[in-house]
Amino acid sequence: MYYGFDVGGTKIEFGAFDKQLNRIATERYATPTKDYAALIDTLAMLVEKYDAKFGEKGTVGIGIPGSEAADGTVLTVNVPAANGMHLRADLEARVDREVRVSNDANCFALSEAWDEQAKEAKTVFGLILGTGFGGGLVINGKVINGKNQMAGEVGHMRMPIDAWLRLGDKPPMFACGCGNQGCLDNYLSGRGFEQLYAHYYAPLSAVEIIEQYRLGETNAVAFVDRFFDVLAMCFGGLLTAFDPDMVVLGGGLSNFDEIYHELPKRLPHHLLSAAKPPMLMKAQHGDSGGVRGAAFLHLAH
Ligand SMILES: [Zn+2]
Repeated sequence: MYYGFDVGGTKIEFGAFDKQLNRIATERYATPTKDYAALIDTLAMLVEKYDAKFGEKGTVGIGIPGSEAADGTVLTVNVPAANGMHLRADLEARVDREVRVSNDANCFALSEAWDEQAKEAKTVFGLILGTGFGGGLVINGKVINGKNQMAGEVGHMRMPIDAWLRLGDKPPMFACGCGNQGCLDNYLSGRGFEQLYAHYYAPLSAVEIIEQYRLGETNAVAFVDRFFDVLAMCFGGLLTAFDPDMVVLGGGLSNFDEIYHELPKRLPHHLLSAAKPPMLMKAQHGDSGGVRGAAFLHLAH
């Protein structure tokens, strides 16, 4: 059995997967965001409960909105109880087995990379266009973490100059939570999409902007046309760096279906001339990607 935990700011989701990667158990608990002992107790209780139920020791993977530092402590804003704690080592001691921890974007990418639609793809780049913009790179079924667990943190790359100029007249320089300015996170995410629209026109939600675009409203049509170009320019750089077989998009803005029509038309202009764009797909597993990917941290390595 493969057990996965998606530990978020409000809930912990647990999933158990069999050897064929079918999900056979699900549980959800409120996250004890301020009580670390209660957090460890909840995770350990679920592991022990399902070990007893299945009569075997399952593998344990955890997805968190944050990262694990080189000294094994967790860095996370959304789960304060775990911040600065040795989550992996403490849970390993409690449940007597190896525990793997990764960030939620990597888990998303891993979940999609093990999906049937990606089985021919050796390199899968998962990109989340959600509240934030982030990503994870999976090669041969394995997450590439990098020296500092930062590989795939594409939201904190700065905007390329052509995309910057395409944003519009006098583009805004948004400050990022990481301390830098001009990070892609603040432009390509659903939040960025809205704050850009507010900068040029009026405060509307992403859903409202897309509705206006589909109705042919002049500002929304011009804005979304520029946004698609900006996406293509930014993705062009990422694809040239990583050259994946497949790109899978997740997060709220990934449900904007025109992306899958417009990006393939616009991307080739921003790749080297010999490069063919990768397959571009919408995520298949939605909200359950975090749990699947966490469980699948024990596959392939
Ligand atoms: Zn940043």
